[in-house]
Amino acid sequence: MNLIFLGPPGAGKGTLAGLVSKEYAVPQISTGDIFRDAIKRETDLGKKVKEIVGRGDLVPDELTVSLVRERLTQPDAKKGYILDGFPRTIPQAEALEKIQKLDAVVNFAIDDTLVIERLSGREICKNCGAIYHVKNMPSKVKGVCDKCGGPVVTRPDDSRESIMNRLDVYRKQTEPLIAFYQKRKLLKDIDSSKSPGDTLAQIRKVLGPA
Ligand code: ADP
Repeated sequence: MNLIFLGPPGAGKGTLAGLVSKEYAVPQISTGDIFRDAIKRETDLGKKVKEIVGRGDLVPDELTVSLVRERLTQPDAKKGYILDGFPRTIPQAEALEKIQKLDAVVNFAIDDTLVIERLSGREICKNCGAIYHVKNMPSKVKGVCDKCGGPVVTRPDDSRESIMNRLDVYRKQTEPLIAFYQKRKLLKDIDSSKSPGDTLAQIRKVLGPA
């Protein structure tokens, strides 16, 4: 099953991709996670994208597409995958079409006010990338990851300024993908304003049994 999770930042794509990945036994491929890992390890890629990601701008299409193309050749992606955070522009979507056939695009719909609230309280494990929220989904021990014991921190690009920029970037560059995939009859709309459990139930419904 080749899937895309589409939606604004803070819609819950990453959290749900983790859950769906387990249930449907396909890997979660998050371009955001790949970039954050490269930044943390200070690789060439990391140095190139650090400022862009920090501002909440998009990494250039060419770089992002070649990274995803390479990732999709890995053996674990043969049985399917969830692309979380890719594509984010029409050129990325056009490039992906040339690489592989998709089965569904899950469109996470949510209001801006809720997005801002979620992103302002979001925390992430610096070590394993697990996602938390100070109010809605706190780690059991403050600042310590439930899963790996690593440090749980605020993401540098979850500053107020970067959040507003990412919403703007989403509207201008990513939202046109809704019409793009509607035209291809791949779009499955879900309401992601409720709990992760509720959203997961909706995704099960639109995707069918694992
Ligand atoms: P969020 O969905 O909360 O904005 P992500 O983890 O998906 O966070 O992405 C974080 C950042 O990584 C983005 O703001 C952007 O700078 C970069 N990024 C991720 N995916 C892409 C992509 N497909 N194209 C360009 N840049 C990307």
